[in-house]
Amino acid sequence: MTVPAVRLFLAASAVALIAACGGPKPEPVPAPADAAMDAATGEDAAAPEAPAEDHAHDGEAEAGGEAHVHGLADLAITREGNRFMGELISPMANFGLSETDAAYTDVVTAELSGLVEVDGGDCQAGVPHPMTDDSGDHTDAVVHFIWTCAKPDEVRTVRFAGFAAFSGFEKVSTIYITDAEQKAGDLTPSAPELSLK
Ligand SMILES: [Zn+2]
Repeated sequence: MTVPAVRLFLAASAVALIAACGGPKPEPVPAPADAAMDAATGEDAAAPEAPAEDHAHDGEAEAGGEAHVHGLADLAITREGNRFMGELISPMANFGLSETDAAYTDVVTAELSGLVEVDGGDCQAGVPHPMTDDSGDHTDAVVHFIWTCAKPDEVRTVRFAGFAAFSGFEKVSTIYITDAEQKAGDLTPSAPELSLK
């Protein structure tokens, strides 16, 4: 992914995160039936609670986003004030899930809370928000994370903690980007952390 593409994508994601993930309650994964209903009723497609379409991943694909490769995933972290937000995009297959069914199992959903961790900053993690993107030939998992931090300037690292639970993950290309800072790294089972300092 090119840097301009990442910026555009993150800007869109930040808006989507605020719109979709503002509440503390877990939201259900949009079912394929929702999309069919929107198509049938037409006007409802623009409703505020419209599902995954809000997240504008189509733009990423047009901008030459990375191909869906099993084993690989992308993690983008942003910060706004005392909140850190994360978006993981991963083949469903990395979670051991069927890309045909495009559904999360209870077992996988239960593991999402510990999937990405931040160290330092006295942060409280919100409930992850799992979605799916089946716009390509394969299905991607799209999971949004949010942390609210008492001392956000003291956040030191972001860690992908899912390598043990999900052996399908081999490398998570991670980027931390704000107006003032940018860090990037490939997280692997032997090096699962990105330093933000
Ligand atoms: Zn796939």
